[in-house]
Amino acid sequence: MKDNWESVIGLEIHVQLNSESKIFSNAPTKFGSDQNLQACEVDLGMPGTLPVLNEKAIEKAIKFGVAINAEIAEKVGFARKNYFYPDLPKGYQISQLDDPIVGKGSIEIHLGDQEIKTIGITRAHLEEDAGKSIHDLFENETAIDLNRAGTPLLEIVSEPDMSNSEEAVAYLKKIHSIVCALEISDGNMSQGSMRCDANVSIKKKGDKKLGTRTELKNINSFKFVEKAINFEIKRQISCLERGEEIVQETRLYDSTNNTTRSMRSKEDAHDYRYFPDPDLLPLEVSDKFINDLKNNIPELPDDKKKRFIDEFKLSPYEANILVSDIDTAKYFEEVVAKMGKNKDIKLAVNWITGELFAVLNSKNIEISQSPISAKNLAILINLIKNGTISGKIAKTVFELMMDGNKDPQKIVEEKGLKQQSDPKALEALIDKIINDNREKAVEYKQGKEKLFGFFVGQAMKASGGKANPQLINEILKKKL
Ligand code: ADP
Ligand code: MG
Repeated sequence: MKDNWESVIGLEIHVQLNSESKIFSNAPTKFGSDQNLQACEVDLGMPGTLPVLNEKAIEKAIKFGVAINAEIAEKVGFARKNYFYPDLPKGYQISQLDDPIVGKGSIEIHLGDQEIKTIGITRAHLEEDAGKSIHDLFENETAIDLNRAGTPLLEIVSEPDMSNSEEAVAYLKKIHSIVCALEISDGNMSQGSMRCDANVSIKKKGDKKLGTRTELKNINSFKFVEKAINFEIKRQISCLERGEEIVQETRLYDSTNNTTRSMRSKEDAHDYRYFPDPDLLPLEVSDKFINDLKNNIPELPDDKKKRFIDEFKLSPYEANILVSDIDTAKYFEEVVAKMGKNKDIKLAVNWITGELFAVLNSKNIEISQSPISAKNLAILINLIKNGTISGKIAKTVFELMMDGNKDPQKIVEEKGLKQQSDPKALEALIDKIINDNREKAVEYKQGKEKLFGFFVGQAMKASGGKANPQLINEILKKKL
C-alpha cells in the first residue's frame, strides 16, 4: 500500500448454527434437499402461525459468547427487521437489535510466528436466515428456494480493528476454528454455513477518524476474502487520489474477474423499521444455564495450541497450523497416539503438513476424507523411524497407500522395499562399485571430494534405492 494511506477493516460473519430444526419452527435444516421442501408455514410467516424459539440456538450462541469471554445478555429480545426482497416473502426477518445474546468480547489472532493481535467483537446476535434467489437455473428468470428460510444464524460483528487482508483472514480463520471446536456449526464455507461481509475503509495515516466504508457482501472463502479486500483497498485509494469521495455502499465481489462492483447504496439501520417481535417474549437466561454451558466448553484452539507446544514440543508456527482446523488437530493427535512409545513427533508433523496436505490440496478434499488413515500414517512414520525404510522409499510407499488406504507394512513386504541395513551386504556392494570405478576412486583420494556424492549415488542405485544411506556413507568413508 502507498505509504500515506491506512486501511481499516471490520467483518460481519454469519455462522449457520447446526441445530436439527429451524430457529423458530420444527422444519428440518438439512443441506441439499429438493427445493422448497423444508420451509414450513412458520418459516414463511403465514397468518395464524406463531414462532417458537429453539433452545438449541440459544445454547449454541451462549457457548460462542463464553468462548470469546463476552458478556451474555440476561434478557434476550427479538426484533423484526422489515425489508422487501423476493427471498423473504414474509416481509421481515426476525433478528436482534437492542439485546443481542452475546455482548462485547474479543479474540486473539496469531500473525506470522510470534505476533499476536487482539480483535474486539462488538456483539453476536441470533437471527433467522432468508431463502435463496437462484439466477442461473432458468433463463431470464429468478427461482426462489425457501429451504434456508428460518435456519438459525449467529451474526458475529467485529470492531473495525483489522488493518489489512492478512489480519482479516486470520480473524475469520480463528472464528472458524472456534465455532468448529465448539461444534456449534459445521463451518462448511462452500455450502454457505459460514459467510462474511467485509467492511473496508481508507484513511490518511495517523488519522483518528475513520473513512467512509464500503461493505463487500457474502464472501464464502478465505481466499476470496483476501482478494476482495485487497482489490477494494486499491480501488478506494485510487478514488481518493483522484480527488473523488468514497460512497457508502454495498458491493459485490466478482471472483471470476477479481473485482468488486456496486450493488446498492447502503441504507442506515433505521430504514429497516425495527420493532420488537410481538410474537416472541424476551427470554430470561439464568446464571445456572450459562454456567452449565461454561463448565462443558470443549478445549478451544488457543488452549490446544498451548498444549501442543508443551506436550509435543512443537513450535508456535507448527502448533498454529495444526490447531487452525479441528479435524487436522484430531488427525495429528491420533497419529501421535498410534505411533506408540518410540515416536518421532517432528517427523509426524512434517508428513502431515507436507505430503498429506499436498495430497488433500491436489484432490481438494478435507482431512476428514483423507485417503490415508491416521493409523496407517503412524505405521509409515514408525517404519522410517526404526530404519525399516528410508525417507525416500517412504514417499513411494505413501503413494501406494493412497489406493485403498493400504497398510504400509504390507506394501513394504509385498514390494520388497525394506531398507538394506546389513553392513556385510552393503560392504560387498560398495567393494564392487569401487572396483568398477577405480580411476574415480583414485581421483577422490587425490582430493576431488565432490566424487563422494557419485559413489553414494552409485551405491543407492545398485541397491534399488533401498540401501540405508547413513550406512552407505559410513562404509564409503572407511573404504575410500
Ligand atoms: P451494518 O449492518 O449496517 O453493516 P453493523 O454495525 O452490523 O452495521 O456492522 C458494521 C461493521 O462495519 C462492523 O464490523 C464494523 O467494525 C465495521 N465498520 C464500521 N465502520 C467502519 C469503517 N469506517 N471502516 C471499516 N469498517 C467499519
Ligand atoms: Mg453490514
